[in-house]
Amino acid sequence: MKNRLFTVIPCYNEEEVLSETARRLRKKYTALMQSGQIAKDSRIAFVNDGSSDRTWQIICDLHAQDPVFTGIDLSRNRGHQNALIAGLLTVKAHADMVISMDADLQDDIDAMDEMIEKYHEGCDIVYGVRNSRKKDSFFKRTTAEAFYRLMNRLGAKTVFNHADYRLMSRRALDGLAQFREVNLFLRGLVPMIGYRTDTVLYERHERFAGESKYPLKKMLSFAFEGITSLSTKPIRMISALGFLLFFISILMSIIFIVEFFLGQTVSGWASLIVSIWAIGGLLMLAIGVVGEYIGKIYMEVKDRPRFLIARFLEEEDEHEE
Ligand code: UDP
Ligand code: MG
Repeated sequence: MKNRLFTVIPCYNEEEVLSETARRLRKKYTALMQSGQIAKDSRIAFVNDGSSDRTWQIICDLHAQDPVFTGIDLSRNRGHQNALIAGLLTVKAHADMVISMDADLQDDIDAMDEMIEKYHEGCDIVYGVRNSRKKDSFFKRTTAEAFYRLMNRLGAKTVFNHADYRLMSRRALDGLAQFREVNLFLRGLVPMIGYRTDTVLYERHERFAGESKYPLKKMLSFAFEGITSLSTKPIRMISALGFLLFFISILMSIIFIVEFFLGQTVSGWASLIVSIWAIGGLLMLAIGVVGEYIGKIYMEVKDRPRFLIARFLEEEDEHEE
């Protein structure tokens, strides 16, 4: 069988949206199965990322009612990116293609048709790309844009306006599994896999219900994680800055020596204090950035597991049979 599709959906406290997401996906699956685009034993896999509400209960109920729904329960909350990779790597052995999407119905389910078409044409990775960000708040739109510009400048290439809504073939997932890093930023990693890729445009909707699980603080740390886990350019920029400052200080000393012999006194301690503070600040910043990378190395060297799985409903069924 070559068309078995798994849709992986990380869920963190999504009890308000889950049944509606399940209903709409079930409808889409029925249509896709009827037209022969996907295999009859395809699955919709919800990943419960340590929710504290009824999310896991709802997933279990869905699974009991309809075998198209399955669930993966993580041992605790590990964050969106880890929940996503946990889902992808867990279903990999069962699927021919996997689509990842958010639970909140922001990703347009109808874009799946085109993704699957492109898979049948031989694509290994199909990115869902938003055609506009009109529905996002002005703040989210401008900060996100600035962030992706900065990322690309710093050499961490990502697909513009692509969140984690994408299709990947089994082969691409096998590739992804070989990227062992703990500091995970999937949007930057997936383009490194290669193979034949394409994009599908879709309209991004508003969150169906509930609130965003990405408050500003989490968004900033996500952005920081993205830059430092994909690029070492900030370290190089610090070296360049240090070199520049050193060069300026040599120029200044030459000027002062000349002035000394010309009999002009060097006056004003204000400029002195300012430069001491400026350079002190820059030094601290520089140490901070370097420290950030050392911290990253520390975490990678430990090689801790990125996730632990408490239950996978699909496999439990197979054991029972
Ligand atoms: N999510 C998760 N673990 C977390 C935070 C979020 O699995 O710790 C999931 C969440 O349930 C949703 C997806 O990640 O399916 C995207 O989160 P959200 O929609 O809140 O982010 P936004 O769209 O506001 O950026
Ligand atoms: Mg969302």
